[in-house]
Amino acid sequence: THMHTTVMMMATLTKALKPILGRQLGNPAKARHFIYTPPPAKYGGRHTVALIPGDGIGPELLNHVRELFRFSCVPVDFEVVHVNSSSTSEGDINNAIMAIRRNGVALKGNIETNHTMPPNHKSRNNLLRTSLDLYANVMHCQSLPGVQTRHKNIDIIIIRENTEGEYSSLEHESVSGVVESLKIITRNNSLRIADYAFRLAREKGRRRVTAVHKANIMKLGDGLFLQCCKEVASGYPDIEFDSMIVDNTTMQLVSKPQQFDVMLMPNLYGNVVSNVCAGLVGGPGLVPGANYGRDYAVFETATRNTGKSIANRNIANPTAMLLASCLMLDHLKIHDYANMIRGAILTTMNETRLHTADIGGQGTTSEVVQSIMRIIQSGGPLTTEI
Ligand code: ATP
Repeated sequence: THMHTTVMMMATLTKALKPILGRQLGNPAKARHFIYTPPPAKYGGRHTVALIPGDGIGPELLNHVRELFRFSCVPVDFEVVHVNSSSTSEGDINNAIMAIRRNGVALKGNIETNHTMPPNHKSRNNLLRTSLDLYANVMHCQSLPGVQTRHKNIDIIIIRENTEGEYSSLEHESVSGVVESLKIITRNNSLRIADYAFRLAREKGRRRVTAVHKANIMKLGDGLFLQCCKEVASGYPDIEFDSMIVDNTTMQLVSKPQQFDVMLMPNLYGNVVSNVCAGLVGGPGLVPGANYGRDYAVFETATRNTGKSIANRNIANPTAMLLASCLMLDHLKIHDYANMIRGAILTTMNETRLHTADIGGQGTTSEVVQSIMRIIQSGGPLTTEI
């Protein structure tokens, strides 16, 4: 009878939830893959955001973000979720993913991936991006005021496919001494990222999109990617389209980076090219990054560093993470707060005596943050454009 009652209750519950959860609830095999997208969390005019401190410099930089948000009266509350990178269980990362599903938006530090873990231990960062289908990684690389670099006037938007390619985590050694590592390129995901890039280019008033590839060697895989980019480009006659092989691209980038406008590429080239570009404008401590999907958005530093060796020494450059928090505020459509904080960050960049060691100064992390707060307190920054 007890069993019968339980079954009856389950049936009633299933019926009640059907309109919300859709058909998949009735099929347990499918239900595991079912993704319920709740509306973005907002309470009494305040936004809630998942905060994943991560490892290395992540926790201290995110503490500075919280401090700055409190100081600036930003209407955002954080749900803090810790992910233990040395744990073999996927419990922590699943909690973090669930928190992002609940909140819709997250700000995160990088979670360390220990290379000595067994192959079935997947990168937590990668797991998070693929589980939430955050297919577009966007990085805006721009020369910053006050930062000494070899090249000036760089203004490049990099769009990187963020869920497949070389990051499929599909590797095997069926024959001893022979490892196969699968690079997956699909027509659907290539069209999707290309369309994202062209839409963004149009929205931002950009003139040209350059697809980066190695289709001379990977004729099928990169060939398909390139073909999809061409197809999408034909629907955007107002935007110029060209393509460049990845080896030439990196050479062109370090010799004449000003020639690039919007760059579009598969996952691994995106990783390499974004690191080159970050280096061109001053390093990993300066550039913010964003990962967008249809339903969720996650913000972090563009080059996703852990910075273990400089952790807890008050020397890390907080700029990239603080600018990432501004991108997040823009995503939440609270642009006034985003502009105010971004402006104060840029004004502080002009103060070379406050520069942290990575960009040639002797300033500390907290001195930079204090200066930003002083500028906000004194009535706001002079510039808000970036
Ligand atoms: P580490 O060398 O710090 O133990 P790592 O080898 O994983 O860690 P990354 O975390 O990828 O290196 O960082 C690459 C380099 O960039 C490191 O030298 C790191 O110290 C530096 N770096 C990264 N982020 C920052 C930052 N916010 N401010 C200053 N330097 C940074």
